[in-house]
Amino acid sequence: MPVPSWVQRAVFYQIFPDRFANGDPSNDPVNVQPWGAEPTYRGFQGGDLRGIIQRFDYLLDLGINAIYLNPIFMSPTNHRYHTTDYFRIDPKLGDLADFHALIDVAHRHDVRVILDGVFNHCGRGFFAFDDVMENEEDSPYRDWFHIKRFPLDAYGKGKARNYLGWWGMKKLPKFNTANPQVRRYLLDCARYWIEQGADGWRLDVPNEIDDDSFWAEFRQVVTSANPEAYTLGEIWEVQPRWANADHFDGLMNYPVRAALHDLLLGRVDAPHFAQRVEDLLTAYARENVYAHYLLLGSHDTERVLTAFEGDVQKVKLAYLFLFAYPGVPSIYYGDEIGLEGGKDPQCRRAFPWEPHRWNHDLRAWVQRLIALRKRRPALIDGHLRRLLASGSPNVYVFARIHPQETILVAINAGPAPAALRISVQDLELPEGRILHSLLGSTETVVCGGAVDLTLPAMSGDLLA
Ligand code: CA
Repeated sequence: MPVPSWVQRAVFYQIFPDRFANGDPSNDPVNVQPWGAEPTYRGFQGGDLRGIIQRFDYLLDLGINAIYLNPIFMSPTNHRYHTTDYFRIDPKLGDLADFHALIDVAHRHDVRVILDGVFNHCGRGFFAFDDVMENEEDSPYRDWFHIKRFPLDAYGKGKARNYLGWWGMKKLPKFNTANPQVRRYLLDCARYWIEQGADGWRLDVPNEIDDDSFWAEFRQVVTSANPEAYTLGEIWEVQPRWANADHFDGLMNYPVRAALHDLLLGRVDAPHFAQRVEDLLTAYARENVYAHYLLLGSHDTERVLTAFEGDVQKVKLAYLFLFAYPGVPSIYYGDEIGLEGGKDPQCRRAFPWEPHRWNHDLRAWVQRLIALRKRRPALIDGHLRRLLASGSPNVYVFARIHPQETILVAINAGPAPAALRISVQDLELPEGRILHSLLGSTETVVCGGAVDLTLPAMSGDLLA
């Protein structure tokens, strides 16, 4: 089954709804924290769907054309991974009309929206689990979960003992997805939100549902509701099992993020890095490689600027690589303006809407890369060919080759400027051809089957 055609052209923006924008203070919880307060595990800051609509011009100006929303269904938690009603928008975020309004404004501007599907487990306030707690053996839902014995202890301290919870957590009862009624409920949910206008699903911890038939049915249900729906699996490792016609179009490409950390923090050299990122390209079918979701940060990681120890130059270089490498690039809300934060909850700070608090240079860089990525066929689906990888100087140069154009991507991860002579003999570039930087004012001429290029320390360039 082919990957939806829009996916290769997508640039995603991930939004954590409680922290992006507060468009309607009337739906805030009474104990709402001030916008921008130090994030806590349990605090809400009032972000909602109306806020996203009100700030849509910001997203369009940045240039993104797809949004990945963290969970938006009824839940007592600020991240909403503890779902209590899969068919209801959390009232603190708005209602179904607000959801439709968001989808409308997005689709009017050719922006796709995918939702976070948490189908391995629910929150303990979910109606079926609540019924089991009340009625025990007599509950019609007792087989919806993995119950070992009654009475259930769902609120005492310690791990879940008498039923299965995600990572043993009492607050996250694991669904029994072998039960046809559970499947029906979850697959109805998957279909329902696609019918309401969502453009796909990002699946939370799908490998915890170790059942190929469930995912094959899931995919069938989703694509029958919308053949253009994108399915994205939260798989952190290289696991080809999960990206194919019976599972997901693409996976969250955390291995590329890890490789960039290792390169730019000096833990591996460029040849090692090159091998790792090129091996990823052959680990999956081509169509899935180009549908993997590329990221530098998420709600589950420290923010990119924090990961690179506050070094904006490294962040810019990492983004350059992300947008020049095969796959679907993404930005975690606020990373483009230099928001900082360690792991959860610090990486979930409220977006600061006062422009004087933004790193405008970084934002302009990201904006530039987004614009290039959307209009250059070689960056969208050109194939990657290595031209040079060297440890000293610490550089990696490759080409993205497309019938319409070839783009050279050059990365200098070293602490000193690098003067390079790069053979382009395999690229069918004519002698005398001038290659211009797409990001700056550099140009170079093909001479003797090679080009000369000087890269400043810790920098990169794109040439065509
Ligand atoms: Ca609000």
